[in-house]
Amino acid sequence: MHELSITRSMLDLALAETKSHGAKRISRIRLLLGEGGSVVPDSVRFYFDLMKKDTAAAEAELEFTTVPVRIRCPKCGKEWGTSPKGLSPDGGCPQNPFEGMCACNAGGEVISGQELVIESIDVD
Ligand SMILES: [Zn+2]
Repeated sequence: MHELSITRSMLDLALAETKSHGAKRISRIRLLLGEGGSVVPDSVRFYFDLMKKDTAAAEAELEFTTVPVRIRCPKCGKEWGTSPKGLSPDGGCPQNPFEGMCACNAGGEVISGQELVIESIDVD
């Protein structure tokens, strides 16, 4: 599962951040989880609990916030959102009934909602 490497790099980043700020212990890590990605929060939690032992994050808890996918049309600049349930009504290219494609037929670039990102870290 790719959650293993995702969790590894997330933890490494959190530990490096903590060290660079001179903190000793992480109490909480807040994560932004994109709805468009295939990252399973329970798997991240599982690997995290295995990896955090004997690190500054040994007592740390994970907190997930789900972020919807946002797609931007590179031609007209319009943005719209999708979710696993389909197109959301907020601000989508109105002419376009098809998922992920703008009426400009210029494709769409995903601007958020794919990755697992650290939002903030609480340290002691
Ligand atoms: Zn467009």
